[in-house]
Amino acid sequence: MTDFTMILDADGVATITWDVPGKSMNVMSLAGFAELNAHIDTALADAAVKGIIITSGKKDFAGGMDLNVIAKMRDDGGAEGIFTGVMQMHQILRKIERAGMDPKTLKGGKPIVAALPGTALGIGLELPLACHRIIAADNPKAKIGLPEIMVGIFPGAGGTTRLVRKMGAMMAAPFLLEGKLSDPKAAKAGGIIDEVVAPEDLLTRAKDWVLSTKEADLVKPWDAKGYKMPGGTPYHPAGYMTFVGANAMALGKTMGVYPAAKALLGAVYEGALVPFDVALKIEARQFTSVLMNPSSTAMIRSLFINKEALEKGANRPDAPDQTVRKVGIIGAGMMGAGIAYVSANAGIEVVLIDAAQDAADRGKAHSAALLDKGIQRRKVTVEKKAEVLARITATTDYAALSGCDLIVEAVFEDPKVKAEVTARVEAATGPDCIFATNTSTLPISSLAKASGRPDQFIGIHFFSPVDKMMLVEIIRGKQTGDRAVACALDFVRQIRKTPIVVNDARFFYANRCIIPYINEGIRMVAEGVEPALVENAAKLVGMPLGPLQLVDETSIDLGVKIARATRAAMGDAYPDGAVDAVLFWMADQGRLGKKANAGFYAYDDAGKRQGLWEGLASQYPVAKDQPDLTLVQHRLLMAQVLEAVRALQDGVLTDIREGDVGAILGWGFAPWSGGPFGWLDIIGAARAVEICDALTASFGARFAAPALLRDMAASGATLYGKTARQAA
Ligand code: NAD
Repeated sequence: MTDFTMILDADGVATITWDVPGKSMNVMSLAGFAELNAHIDTALADAAVKGIIITSGKKDFAGGMDLNVIAKMRDDGGAEGIFTGVMQMHQILRKIERAGMDPKTLKGGKPIVAALPGTALGIGLELPLACHRIIAADNPKAKIGLPEIMVGIFPGAGGTTRLVRKMGAMMAAPFLLEGKLSDPKAAKAGGIIDEVVAPEDLLTRAKDWVLSTKEADLVKPWDAKGYKMPGGTPYHPAGYMTFVGANAMALGKTMGVYPAAKALLGAVYEGALVPFDVALKIEARQFTSVLMNPSSTAMIRSLFINKEALEKGANRPDAPDQTVRKVGIIGAGMMGAGIAYVSANAGIEVVLIDAAQDAADRGKAHSAALLDKGIQRRKVTVEKKAEVLARITATTDYAALSGCDLIVEAVFEDPKVKAEVTARVEAATGPDCIFATNTSTLPISSLAKASGRPDQFIGIHFFSPVDKMMLVEIIRGKQTGDRAVACALDFVRQIRKTPIVVNDARFFYANRCIIPYINEGIRMVAEGVEPALVENAAKLVGMPLGPLQLVDETSIDLGVKIARATRAAMGDAYPDGAVDAVLFWMADQGRLGKKANAGFYAYDDAGKRQGLWEGLASQYPVAKDQPDLTLVQHRLLMAQVLEAVRALQDGVLTDIREGDVGAILGWGFAPWSGGPFGWLDIIGAARAVEICDALTASFGARFAAPALLRDMAASGATLYGKTARQAA
């Protein structure tokens, strides 16, 4: 098995081709790095080699580092193992950068060019950054960048140090701190890469450059005498402004909860004050500290390893391939229109049905509008738009459903309407067709009563807006069969979203956990806790939206509707009367949330959020004594986390990986923690029980620690440790 091969042509140009066997995308492993190193040594030592091209045998250059390798480095060698491993990578990349030149005269180096046919991410860009020139094929689908920050780490193979020295801290900030990705032309305009050429000219141009370049072109600016960092170092007046600004911006965005953002800024700031090789060492130390932080372990586990495992069908039942060629979508409203778009975009033929033709047409127009936006952003071509739209038939005629493999029903949230639609669909489709409902609140098993084929009846719960939200919750009803689950999973894979499979219960999984979060926030308002404290406490613990903003966004009348339905279903056991008092009062005041330009927040006429609504205090005055921040955070987090644990205990969730990935993608649960179960493992079950006991004493039984947590606290077990087979 070789990841890198090298051939030398008659003109003395060695081409090193990266082509990891059996994978569609190159990823870097330790063995791969060693191979690359050996080829570089050979080429530099061989007098017949005039220069080197590093390219890929695949349509893309590389997807990045194999994060499993990083996890293994940490598990096997701890901090020392990571630091040593990273320093070895630095050494190899530095060797490429110096390319055999005399360290004093900077002469005698061999030109090394990176020729990128397509996507180059993470180490797939850090390696080119160490080369003397980066040439990319003009491939608008290619993505170039350093997305490490998205999974809780940062570019640690010299990418941080090199990009800052190449572009300056200010220009490098969006790429390092936000993981911004660009297509080749934008990457060239941004100064990350040097040249973009027609795909068919890539290797010829790379070879021409190798053979024609001058010795002086090989010396990196930071290795040349008199180098000054673009934009200035921290003690330069301009640099000072950049660093103060970047620090404030990063903390403003991350609220200080992401160790990777802090460590990255540390590496950039400290690195800017010292010579290049020392900066690399600092980068390696900061990188090691991040990898040793439990947050990065949890983030890599949920956002990379387990997310990918779920997408690849980790929980798919053993059933034949259920690829969907034709999908019928009933109800062309907000959700149906979105589902039609993502399906047609994935190459699936779509029949979009509504009760009236103009409603069906409006649903199809949603796709046209999204595609037009794509055209404006140069992500979609006019031909692609025509192709996608041609796949969507907007109609009122159920006969058009003939030949569908799957139906997704997204009509009004009314069991009677849904039952009628189910019967009509089953009369119009073949016996093998799977029927999915997109209901958000109605139990799947009771909706399935309207079906003559309950084993083919399932829930596929999308989140709004469908084109943006990556999670899809698949709900197994009591009678749902394996083929239906397999079909739902295959469909979600086709539309490139992330599935979780849960069992049927009130509000399934995501909404079941979000509602207590919102309710806890509202409950605090009723108790006289300063609303700003509630909102900021949530954000400072990494929630994207405070509970009051969240209920404003989803609408207060929806909250009222859900509260009424839940109360009707639960009777005397209903626990949320205190919450309802606030919600109902808000609704009576006409403050229905963002859509009404009035809610817990005030909005201007254009719908822009202005700040918390001061009128709330007239009904719910702010108490003189305010709780401390940590207490508010514990209430907000535990409200969600305990619900997730109960969902696991009740068998609604069957896999903690799904609970964690679903929480982050579904409602943005503090991503730094890796999800609710990740958070419990970080603080430990014993501490969690202690927090629950204190909260129960002050606020009641909703915070009682579930048996599962108490058992774990007693035995010292962890969730991921306990199910080690499933953990990273
Ligand atoms: P919507 O009101 O925007 O759309 C419903 C559409 O169904 C309308 O276009 C309506 O004309 C059509 N319709 C109603 N009865 C019909 C019938 N008998 N035959 C054909 N078409 C019919 O509603 P929505 O927000 O898109 O929600 C649809 C479903 O998705 C509901 O079950 C809802 O609970 C669920 N859901 C909504 C959200 C959300 O955020 N809005 C999220 C997840 C799930």
